[in-house]
Amino acid sequence: MRAYSYCPHCKTTLGKEMIDGRERLFCPSCSWVHYINPLPVAVAYTVNKKNELLVIRRAHEPALNEWALPGGFLEAGEEPFEGCLRELMEETSLNGKIDRLIGLYHREVEMYGSLLVVAYKVMVDDDAITINHELFDAGFYPPHLIPEVRIPLHMQIIKDGAALD
Ligand SMILES: [Zn+2]
Repeated sequence: MRAYSYCPHCKTTLGKEMIDGRERLFCPSCSWVHYINPLPVAVAYTVNKKNELLVIRRAHEPALNEWALPGGFLEAGEEPFEGCLRELMEETSLNGKIDRLIGLYHREVEMYGSLLVVAYKVMVDDDAITINHELFDAGFYPPHLIPEVRIPLHMQIIKDGAALD
């Protein structure tokens, strides 16, 4: 996380003040406040017609080389479900359809700070995968053969997604 020393609007040296119950960087000249908000992320719990789950192996940090669910940061101006399907498409070339919302989660990660995670259950008819540079591997697995997912958030989403039916 980048720490500001100067006001991005008027270049005044920032001070610290208690604002809305938290100590925040504050500009004494123009009253700008550095609010720190979570970054929104969409994650796709994706199943094919055989009810197999899509898991991917990450080719980038954080969690390099770990098995996970596909997903990524939402873009400005994008509906959360659109971001979820776009990330799935980019990473795997799969054309998914939103089934339903699984849940909303908060996580802290060292690389990005606070994340707000939106997890959807996504269905695909055609499960032929072409992975992009962000992945080492991807595949659909029946529940008892899913590779070990060790990222706590993704473990939670898999548990919550499986509990839907
Ligand atoms: Zn200022």
